[in-house]
Formats: sequence, C-alpha cells, structure tokens
Amino acid sequence: MRRVFAILAVLSALLTLSAARVISKEANEDPTKAALVKIAGEGLVESHAFEYLTQLSDDVGARVTGSPQSRKAVEWSLGKMRAIGLENVRAEKFQIWRGWTRGTAQAEVTDPIHRRLNVDAMGWTGSTPAAGAEGELIAANVFNLDQESKDPAKFTGKIILMVVKGEPKKDQDGLLIFAQFGEFVKLAAKNGAVAIFGGQGGFKSEGMNLTHTGILGFSADFNIPVLSLTTEDQSQLERFLDSGKKVHVGLNVHNTFSDGPVESANAVGEIRGREHPEEILVVGAHLDSWDLSEGATDNGMGSVSVLSAAEAILRSGQRPRRTIRFVLFNGEEQGLLGSYAYVKQHQSEMPNHLGDLVLDEGQGPVKEFQLGGRYDLTGDFQEFVDSLANIRSIRVSDKVEFGTDTGPFIVAGLPGINMNQDSPEYKYTHHSAADALEEVKPDVLAQDATLMAMTAFWIADRPERFAKPWPANKTAAMLRAQHQFEFLRATGLWPFGDQGAEENNEKPPLSE
Ligand SMILES: [Zn+2]
Repeated sequence: MRRVFAILAVLSALLTLSAARVISKEANEDPTKAALVKIAGEGLVESHAFEYLTQLSDDVGARVTGSPQSRKAVEWSLGKMRAIGLENVRAEKFQIWRGWTRGTAQAEVTDPIHRRLNVDAMGWTGSTPAAGAEGELIAANVFNLDQESKDPAKFTGKIILMVVKGEPKKDQDGLLIFAQFGEFVKLAAKNGAVAIFGGQGGFKSEGMNLTHTGILGFSADFNIPVLSLTTEDQSQLERFLDSGKKVHVGLNVHNTFSDGPVESANAVGEIRGREHPEEILVVGAHLDSWDLSEGATDNGMGSVSVLSAAEAILRSGQRPRRTIRFVLFNGEEQGLLGSYAYVKQHQSEMPNHLGDLVLDEGQGPVKEFQLGGRYDLTGDFQEFVDSLANIRSIRVSDKVEFGTDTGPFIVAGLPGINMNQDSPEYKYTHHSAADALEEVKPDVLAQDATLMAMTAFWIADRPERFAKPWPANKTAAMLRAQHQFEFLRATGLWPFGDQGAEENNEKPPLSE
C-alpha cells in the first residue's frame, strides 16, 4: 500500500512538472498561435468557399463595373457578409466616369484568303458604323510605339495589327507598354484609323483560340474599335504581312457607352478589434469581372476567399486585437477605381491602417507574399510564413504589384500585400471565355482562403502594431527603386512630384 502511495506521489510530481513545462512553453510561444490553429481548422474543414463561388458564378455571373449584374453582385456580397456575421456591413458608393456595354463583334479576312476571324472587343472601346467597315491591314510594333507614332497619317483608312518584334527598351515592362499603348490608340483614332487588332498592348494571347478582353488605360475609353484577336488568327495575319501580301479585313463592331458617370460600390464588412478597434487591416479582392465568362478566376476566387477568410475567423470564436475590414472592391478592371475610392473616402483613417492584403493572381495555390515595397517587414513576415510550412512553403519578398488593388495602398505608404499565386493556367482563363467555375479547384481555393484568414489574423493580432504608413518621400524613393516611376507617371498616378529622386533607398541587402 505504502509502495502504491509512493508511486502515486512520484507520478503526481512528474505530472505537475510536465504541466509546468507545458505552461512555460506556451507562455514563450506566440500567443496568436492557438487562435491560428482554430482558424485553420474552420477554414480547411468547414470551408464554404466553393459553394460561394458556385453561387457567384451561376446566380450572378459576369459583373462588369457599373452594369446591373454588378449591382446584383454587390447585393449578393452584402447578404453573404451579413449571413456570416460580419459587423458594420455596408456598400460604399463611388462613381465610374462612364459605363460600357458589349454588343457584337465580327471580323473576317477577305484577302488573300477568305475566313472568319475570332475577335472580341476590348472594354470601353468603340464601334464601327452600323453597316460595318473595311480596310487594308498594316502592322505596328508594340516595342516601338514612339517611332510608329511619328507619321500618324499612314493610319488613315487602315486597320492596324499590333505586333511584338525585337526586344523591349529599358524599363519598358508590361505596365509601361500598357500606358504607352493607350496614347497610341488615341493617336490612331484621331488620324482616321478604322480599327486596331491587338488587345492589351498587342501582346499575343496564349492560344487555344481564346480572345482576352480588358481595359486599355486607367479610367480611359476610346472611340475606335479595338479588338482582341486569338493567337492563331494573329499569327496567320502576321505571316501574310511578313511575306509581303496585301491583307484586307472587314469588320462590324457595336458597343454602347452610357452618357455620363455610373454609380458603383465597394462591399464592406468588419470584425472589430478587441484592443485597438480604430486600427484597421484591409483584406480585399475585386468583385467586378469581365463579361466573356463568369469571372471565376478573375476574381471570383479572390472574392470568395475574402468571404471565407472572414467566416473562418468568425467561426473560430477568436477576435483579433485590431479591426479586420473585409472589402470587395469594384472597378478594379477599369483602373483600380474601387480601391482608389476607398483610400480617398477613408483618407482621415489612413494613418490608422496597417495595410491591405489582396488575392488576385488566378486560380493557383499561393506561392509568395509580396509586401509592396515594405522591406522593413519581410523579416517578421518570413518567420510567420515559415510557421505555415505544413500547409505550404511560401516565399516572402518586398515586390511592388501595381496591377491590382494593392496599388493605391502602396502609394499611401502602406504595405499593399499581394498574395501571388502559382497559376500557369491563368494565361488561358485571364479575361477570356474560359474564366469559368471549372477552372477552380475546391481544395486549392479552401487552402488559399485559409491562408488569407490566418495571415489577416496574424497581422491584426500582433502585440506590437504590424506597420505604420511611410512618409511620402520614403515611399517615392522606394517606388523609384522598384522601377514604378515611369509607369505611374505615364498613367497620371504619380503623386509625388520630384520626391524620392534624391533619397537613398535604404533597403537592407537581406530583402532581395
Ligand atoms: Zn483581377
């Protein structure tokens, strides 16, 4: 009997010891971790993300900014936000300068052979006369728009085929070409060109006979037909021209513009912070899409990730120290209009913002967090991301991504964090007729949404505030160092004047 007591005493001492060890281990650990474990469980096991994406695709469908379907999408989003239990759910209205509706687009090559071409109009571009138009095809090189623009009289009565020949000039990346192309289209229209074939800056699409629509400038419209052509048709027309053949094309294109501005709105809901509710992390994606399909990958995937991230946090019962504001932006495709409107409407609150976390890179798994120039944050962030290694191995960089709703926040000095994805199929689905629900895998979607939820909670729950806005001169110097100046100036989005030209970019060697 005594022996038994002795054994029990030893056992109980051991248990006390190990309990003490567990407690001290937990005290040393990141206290946010237990919350993240619960959020991961909700996000991965209880995900409704694919169900929401199915509803958005089938009950709403394509949702071009300013269209009736776009308004329906906002109502749908607000309903979902209320149903999952977000606070302060509301529509934040803004105006888009002009609405646009796609009509029909037909084209055929009539010489040297006769065949139908596969075309679709680019967004916010014009129409032919009602009876159609025709003309001879001439080529213009996307990499050499300065030169091509020197003799604009050559465009009169012609149809211009944009081609990509040779190498780009220094700093002539995709975004800069995008900015230069808009100017070129205006010049061609002014000089009586009939139409332009070549979509977004004339970059070839990726085959499978798909066209890819899109806008040709930030808040820009054009009174000339500009058509996206499939790779297959583009290549054939180029072969004709390269071999010196005269190419004749006929087309009939009809689109309509609204007479004036059209109302749009961002859909907004919150999880209020438990300690510093006035400090805010924005978690966002764009709700608007193009209209050749359902916009499932661009950016239904991101939109339902935002909703599902919010739902996972709410169902976990965990409330972060600071507020997480979930925003479904509109007007992204017309030039980041919704996120620019947000930053403007919340100007007085911007010093209290921690950053903006966005998912908008197609249908693939998240592969990298790009911190929008904030090299001061990469170290802590990498540690956090390393703790997610059992879900996925992810990189961290300070790269600036201006092609989505991170842009306006980056200019405001905040980390506009882009969740870059590994989406090799996006080159087919991007703005095309293939952007449908079939292209999204439910497991990848649930994982991306869960990573968004965990990242949002981690940022909002830091004991010390995650980030404060940088002063303008520091942001300007960073954007120059990241080669964003030319593009932002060309699109009229550079707000810093001469700032940042002299400053040393104090980026530590670690971050690249
Ligand atoms: Zn997008």
